[in-house]
Amino acid sequence: MSNHLTEVDPAVADAVDRERERQESTLGMIASENHVSEAVLAAQGTALTNKYAEGYPGARYYGGCEHVDEVERLAIERATELWGADHVNVQPHSGTQANMGVYFAAIEPGDTILSLDLTHGGHLSHGHHVNFSGQLYAVEQYEVDPETGYVDYDALAEQAREVDPDLVVSGSSAYPREFDWERIGAIADEVDAYHLADIAHVTGLVAAGVHASPVGHADFVTGSTHKTIRAGRGGIIMCEEAYADDVDSAVFPGSQGGPLLHNVAGKAVGFAEALTPDFEAYAERVVDNASALADVLRERGLSLVSDGTDKHLVLVDLRDSHPDLTGADAEAALSDVGIVVNKNTVPGETRSPFVTSGVRIGTPALTTRGFGPEEIETVGHLVADVIDAPDDGTTRDRASDAVDDLCESFPVYE
Ligand SMILES: *Cc1c(COP(=O)(O)O)cnc(C)c1O
Repeated sequence: MSNHLTEVDPAVADAVDRERERQESTLGMIASENHVSEAVLAAQGTALTNKYAEGYPGARYYGGCEHVDEVERLAIERATELWGADHVNVQPHSGTQANMGVYFAAIEPGDTILSLDLTHGGHLSHGHHVNFSGQLYAVEQYEVDPETGYVDYDALAEQAREVDPDLVVSGSSAYPREFDWERIGAIADEVDAYHLADIAHVTGLVAAGVHASPVGHADFVTGSTHKTIRAGRGGIIMCEEAYADDVDSAVFPGSQGGPLLHNVAGKAVGFAEALTPDFEAYAERVVDNASALADVLRERGLSLVSDGTDKHLVLVDLRDSHPDLTGADAEAALSDVGIVVNKNTVPGETRSPFVTSGVRIGTPALTTRGFGPEEIETVGHLVADVIDAPDDGTTRDRASDAVDDLCESFPVYE
């Protein structure tokens, strides 16, 4: 029982080491990723993984829950302080599970969801046909204005009156602008629909007050805990007190069994970190860095969806500047020099999701490493250099060396 991982399973231990080394030696710019602290890692790798605790603190179906009750209560308390919602459920295993919990609590199979189209920045769990949400519910989708790249709220209001949804979903994975939560809340109210604001990507920015909060403008708010909030992999649901029991029973027993208490412990620790002034400074810097990145890329002639960003990511649309370069090509060329991004569909996409015409680039993880606008500017130029000359060996070697230098100067873990 006490043998070290390296003895028990060298293959897994070695892959874990190599993954840690990959994170140290490359620039992680996938907008949904981040690096958690050693404290969050430690909390996640604990004996809490052994414990069954179906139910909620103080009302479990198993004995021996006094200590995990405390952990879950701390996570709930801290989340309440961070986001200010009446009620919080910290048990969803992921952001998708959090959305499932809200759908199960708020609507019935066959009811209508109105959500942002995936190629316009939405998420699979907002009603895509390959996801349960697209299979259980009738799905209508809104899009961004093809000219401006912004959600057109007048058009959305009109569409809502037309399709009479039961639930309007706001929030996104690849939309570089803030949502007008109040406006969407009013649109949902007008057609007597619930409003779910999915803040998966911006949980940390909202908690720090550098991005508007939907709390108060949405009946339900869902989030991921491993993105900008840096609290380890998982999901969270927030709602008004009136929906608390429905949400709790939709999560357990509705759609999950026992909670992952080791992950709930990670959430508790990450939330405590997020309550410090340091975290506020971090979140501000994430946004400053993204805006510095947008400036450089635009300067270098690249088109950005909505021409910029309000938050932690930019979405490069390659069709204007590099019509023959696909998102997949750009992702591969950047990955080759150690800059890890993801290919991404863009509004009005004509290529397949495996190919795409865009790349999404985010700053949360590099900001965690200590990057400021100056370093981000350097990285922005490297990105533009590689996109301009993806097959040029000299460019690649130079970019690769610069990435090595940056990684050495800004270690993830000491
Ligand atoms: C990341 C994300 C989720 C949740 O993803 P999981 O991988 O299930 O944690 C949900 N909604 C949006 C908008 C997202 O970006």
